[in-house]
Amino acid sequence: MANGLKSSTAARVRFAPSPTGYLHIGGVRTALFNWLWARKTKGTFVLRIEDTDQERSTPESRQIIFDSLRWLELSWDEGPEVGGDHGPYTQMERLSIYKEWSERLIKEGKAYRCTCTKELLDQQRAELKAKDPKANFRYPGTCRNKPDAIPDVPYVVRFKVPTDGVVTYVDKVFGEVTTPNKAQQDFVLLRSDGIPLYNFGAVVDDLAMGITLVARGRDHMVNTPPQILIYRAFGAEPPDMAHLPMMLAPSGEKLSKRHGAVSVTEYRDQGYLPAAVLNYLARFGWSHGDQEVFSLAELVEAFSWEACGRGDGKFDTKKFLAIQHEHMKRENLTSTKEYAARLVPFMKLRGLDVSASELEKTIYTVRERSRTLIEAAEGLDFFYREPHVTDDAAKAKFLVDTNAPNLKGFLSVIKDASEWTEAVLEKAVHDWLEKEGKQIKDVAQAARVALTGRTASPGLFQVLAVLGKDRSLARLESAIAIAEVTPAPPPPPPKEGAGKEGATKEAPKG
Ligand code: GLU
Repeated sequence: MANGLKSSTAARVRFAPSPTGYLHIGGVRTALFNWLWARKTKGTFVLRIEDTDQERSTPESRQIIFDSLRWLELSWDEGPEVGGDHGPYTQMERLSIYKEWSERLIKEGKAYRCTCTKELLDQQRAELKAKDPKANFRYPGTCRNKPDAIPDVPYVVRFKVPTDGVVTYVDKVFGEVTTPNKAQQDFVLLRSDGIPLYNFGAVVDDLAMGITLVARGRDHMVNTPPQILIYRAFGAEPPDMAHLPMMLAPSGEKLSKRHGAVSVTEYRDQGYLPAAVLNYLARFGWSHGDQEVFSLAELVEAFSWEACGRGDGKFDTKKFLAIQHEHMKRENLTSTKEYAARLVPFMKLRGLDVSASELEKTIYTVRERSRTLIEAAEGLDFFYREPHVTDDAAKAKFLVDTNAPNLKGFLSVIKDASEWTEAVLEKAVHDWLEKEGKQIKDVAQAARVALTGRTASPGLFQVLAVLGKDRSLARLESAIAIAEVTPAPPPPPPKEGAGKEGATKEAPKG
């Protein structure tokens, strides 16, 4: 089958995380590229849990992987909790399969049982290092040529690496890669407790699960040649390989917790949208002209391995937030229905029990300004909380006696407006201001604080319209009552430093 055909027919791809902590966004990028390819080729996205590191794997971490992928809506077609024809999909449940497959290799003389103990190997390593501290210890092949027999002591299974020749493969991103076999030692496939090492477990599973393309971070490129040797030992051709550039911190180091939020759940909790997270991650190692903002459907449509680059990328929280903001703003990316549904839990966190259908009515007031769901919940708080809460600093500054007359004028004008709509209210207020020789800034902030309790909010007339007449008038009335009895703070004294600096600047002239 021609290569091009192979890569565009229904692919079977997999995401194979180790459940040893949170789901790192670098891991999500790997999951995403595989998922996009599965969806694009109308193929299958397999989730496999690689939990052979028993010390570090935890059930909680496994659950975090499921929850994170589900939140991102990267649904898997086969894997834990959904099943499939190639299960089980958790490596520790597949130990009998690795055993059986390793026996096949032993029988064919491609692998062997090795009884060299750790103590013996440590001693050999120490002896070598004593002679040459720079030398790299390699397994000396002690058991390689012994006739096969099941030992009565613990043993590992080692792979018989060919002593000459090379492994060459064509990576879909990095192109042709060649590694001499003598760079490999007889590596361990199966430990004495029957648990496979990563390379063996991954190859057995990828073969048994019919994986046609393996995409993962380029930090795994060193594993690809030994894995290809194992495929060949089984008489199989390796799947297509695609390695993806790394996601780095701005400093150029590997991106980790030290550099800020790197786990998916943190972004979820900060009020990011799943499609925005995926949009940002898609741009790591992949581009489509200079387009930055994509819906998930557009990503599926546009994605290709050919458009993946080799250069590592730097994680840019500002750009991430900008993409997130675009997804919050655009109705075609986040419908009002979806926006409202996602906002409900964030309102709840503020103690506001509001239904999605109630939220749908007010979301237009925060669309433009709110960058995250947390900000949107903040922005809508004034509307759903009764009595609303007024920020102390805003109150002290704006709900004061000097503003009371303007607030009263504003109140009486809107009270008499012919209709309670944004446009009519705006016109009525502007006519009044003009007649009084005043400007909107003379009343807007005080009115905003009266109505919303804060100095930043949706547009003033939008606020009035959304609150409705009764609530708006009631809030203005109680704010006026406060303002009338609150003396305006004295103007701040001129700053000492500023005065001196001014004097110095003036000095040469005088
Ligand atoms: N369990 C490996 C990891 O989390 C999977 C690597 C692979 O995709 O082959 O890095």
